[in-house]
Amino acid sequence: MTIKLFQEDAYLKECEAKVISISDQGIELDQTIFYPLGGGQPGDMGCLLTSSGESIDIVDTRKCKENANSIRHIASTVPDTLAVGDTVKAVIDWDLRYRYMRTHTCLHLLGALLKFPVTGGSISKEKGRLDFDMPESPDKAELTEQINALVQQNRPLEFSWISDEELQANMELVRTMSVKPPMGAGKVRLVNIPEVDLQPCGGTHVRNTSEVGQVLIKKIEKKGKQNRRVNLVLVD
Ligand SMILES: [Zn+2]
Repeated sequence: MTIKLFQEDAYLKECEAKVISISDQGIELDQTIFYPLGGGQPGDMGCLLTSSGESIDIVDTRKCKENANSIRHIASTVPDTLAVGDTVKAVIDWDLRYRYMRTHTCLHLLGALLKFPVTGGSISKEKGRLDFDMPESPDKAELTEQINALVQQNRPLEFSWISDEELQANMELVRTMSVKPPMGAGKVRLVNIPEVDLQPCGGTHVRNTSEVGQVLIKKIEKKGKQNRRVNLVLVD
């Protein structure tokens, strides 16, 4: 099991870690700040710096196929000199990750504004989107205004933990039908934007809604009779 430092502090840009295993699934570390692909958020990129001064490019991060609690860092090339037991310094592409954090947090606000079941979602460098089970498309300009108003309320995000059993007894907290809540590690993290949104989420978020910055609802697409895809972009 990899210790997920990004869940305790999403603002860590680097950490020291020990190599646990090296396989065709990637490099496993005892702890990491690299977020693995999941919940619609891409896996982090960055590099691992070895004690001999080599820099290993990490192009993606994934959960191990057999054990979701083990995280694998996918390198463009693994040097022959890297060995199990080595200590490395893990450094993420912070600019990219911070963009994901802002977009991800913004999607929580979008989900709070449109009170319909969420059927899908994803984040990229360019945009974020959520799919809703809703028959009518909301007005883009009005939604843009509402979401920016929430951003500007400077609401701090609060994080807490509950057990898998507690979540099981409170499944109404789960908003996204298409994304399984991050269970299986014994505890689940709750993300609370007071008076706006409360849900279990394993992703990375900013500390305050103001960090999201200006947002534009770019496009609302019709995806089937009941489904609407709402695309948003960060304006900067
Ligand atoms: Zn989240």
